[in-house]
Amino acid sequence: MKLSAAGLVAWHSVGFPRGRIFAQRKSCHVYPTHLAFGYFDHRKQSLPPAFLFRTSHSDTMMGKKGLLERLAEGPVIGDGSYVFTLEKRGYVKGGPWTPEAVIEHPEGVKQLHREFMRAGADVLQAFTFYSTDDKLHLAGNLAGESVTCHDQNEAACKIVQEVAAEGKDVLICGGCSPTPSYMEKKGKEVVQQEFKKQVDVFAHREEVDFLLCEFMGHVEECEWAIEAMKAAGKPVACTMRIGPKGDQNGVPTGECAVRMAKAGADVVGINCLYDVNTSLKTIEMMKTALDKAGLSPYLMIQPLGYHCPEVENMLEGYFHLPEAPFALEPRLLTRFDVQKFARAAYELGVRYLGGCCGFEPYHIRALAEELAPERGRLPDASAKHEPWGGALKGSMFAFMRKRAGREHWENIKPTLGRPDHPVLQDHLDE
Ligand SMILES: [Zn+2]
Repeated sequence: MKLSAAGLVAWHSVGFPRGRIFAQRKSCHVYPTHLAFGYFDHRKQSLPPAFLFRTSHSDTMMGKKGLLERLAEGPVIGDGSYVFTLEKRGYVKGGPWTPEAVIEHPEGVKQLHREFMRAGADVLQAFTFYSTDDKLHLAGNLAGESVTCHDQNEAACKIVQEVAAEGKDVLICGGCSPTPSYMEKKGKEVVQQEFKKQVDVFAHREEVDFLLCEFMGHVEECEWAIEAMKAAGKPVACTMRIGPKGDQNGVPTGECAVRMAKAGADVVGINCLYDVNTSLKTIEMMKTALDKAGLSPYLMIQPLGYHCPEVENMLEGYFHLPEAPFALEPRLLTRFDVQKFARAAYELGVRYLGGCCGFEPYHIRALAEELAPERGRLPDASAKHEPWGGALKGSMFAFMRKRAGREHWENIKPTLGRPDHPVLQDHLDE
């Protein structure tokens, strides 16, 4: 990567101000380079470039570090949107949202993995979301006629392992999804059987570093899933698609976090359904409850890539917006929104930060760039990106050159560009 040490210093010194939330942080997992940078003193820039750009590659000399070891040292950057992004690229059918693309279009999946890795993701998640056999056979989905959960998870592992091997030191996550069988009240045994089929493929692969069960709507199903995942003997993460109102059975948000931790999850948190601001409120509720219970799993957050403040108190989040899922583009986060979110989440104590539906590779790059001082490195994709629009200095247009700087981009208020549209949705479907 042909960036000067000044490049990293630039990200460091122009990041969002540390404010109220930082003061509330109770624990900080110290990262050696974080201290060496002089986190609060931007003048300490006398370190040699080789040290400033210490990449995770050097860790491989001593063996690959696992997820929990990395989380103890500092922030871990996850990857972003798969089903949403691959639907837009023509490889996934919106509706069923099942991942048969791993068999039908492996090159499409590989390319997205590569883009997230280049954007700074420390983790690549096997594209196995909604791969369960019961989901493949739900009404209207023809995928179940030709593929099984086992086939898809095997193919997804092969793909993600191939891409991860092209990188320096990327972790592989085996992803599990909630089961229609739980919604149909088929009971613990049937539900755990669906999880076991998902997990079996990952359990037998040494290359899969940890397991994640995500988009969970009921903490009871989380407990059953965590039990099934723990049997694989790898670190376990679990994230729920909940907001401040708690889970689908009325279990409060804080209690959900406590129950996931007590079930044995090493990492707990939330993903999808809510925007960055609502997700920050939710994760803070989880942290408060965990602290009160004397539990300290790592916190994980992978929010929606769209703004949707209207649905903060609705149980299915952005699904209630009539424009979901095919007309959400005007609500997309900017890279600056993501930087601000990354700083706030980190200062709340969250150590695993990624994105869900709508999070494109450049959003992941924004996470990695904002937390570059803590991580001691920038993503490869930052070779083509300067902080706060800095590269606009090279524009042919004088008015554009004036936008090269933090003041412009930090204060910009993007507009809809749709003259007859309301700013917020005035009708929510239930
Ligand atoms: Zn999502």
